[in-house]
Parts: sequence; C-alpha cells; structure tokens
Amino acid sequence: MDQELVARMEKSLMDLKMEIIANLVSSNKDFKEIVEGMDPKDLADIASDDIDRKTIEALSSQDLKRLKLIDSALTRIQQGKYGLCVKCGKRIPQERLEAIPYALMCIECKTAEERRNR
Ligand SMILES: [Zn+2]
Repeated sequence: MDQELVARMEKSLMDLKMEIIANLVSSNKDFKEIVEGMDPKDLADIASDDIDRKTIEALSSQDLKRLKLIDSALTRIQQGKYGLCVKCGKRIPQERLEAIPYALMCIECKTAEERRNR
C-alpha cells in the first residue's frame, strides 16, 4: 500500500471522526456533557472500545456505525492492512478509499454482503 495514501486516509479518518463527534456535541445535550467531562486529549479516543454505555446511547445508530467503521479502518492502518478487503484480502481500489476512507471491503464483497442482508 502506498504510504502516502495511507497517511492521507488516516488524516481523513481522524477528521471524519472529529466531525461526527462535533456534530453530536452540537445536537445532543447528554453527549455534550460527556465530552465536556473528558480530558481533551481523550476526545480522539471517544469511540474506542472502552466507550461507555451512556455515550453509546447518545449516539444515533448511524453515527455509531460510522464511528465503528472509522475505528476499524484506523486499526487496519496500525496493523498495516489498510486498503485490503477484510473478506477476500484483495486490494480496495484507491478511488473507492478516497470516496469512502472507512471502506473495509472491496465492491464485490460489499455488494455480496448487502445482497445477503436484504
Ligand atoms: Zn473483497
């Protein structure tokens, strides 16, 4: 994987994550209280595994889903597996990653999964 692309995607992912959190803070009073009670340096970790129940309740399922995908993608970067499909292991095309930095599957696997879930 192109290291420059990975670095760029990592930044996009962090930005996206902060954007979702900022959105939540402005739209949800409970969430605002949680965030205000936190150390600012922990903010980036807000969606990590130790996220508490109250925080989860304050998140809409859509936002939570996105945060989880973003975290998975960040984990994949740390593991050096970013950009490889979690299902088949093939490379995810760069255009797809640029459009959806948290894409974890190639289009074929994603399409197959969506068909199965329907
Ligand atoms: Zn695949």
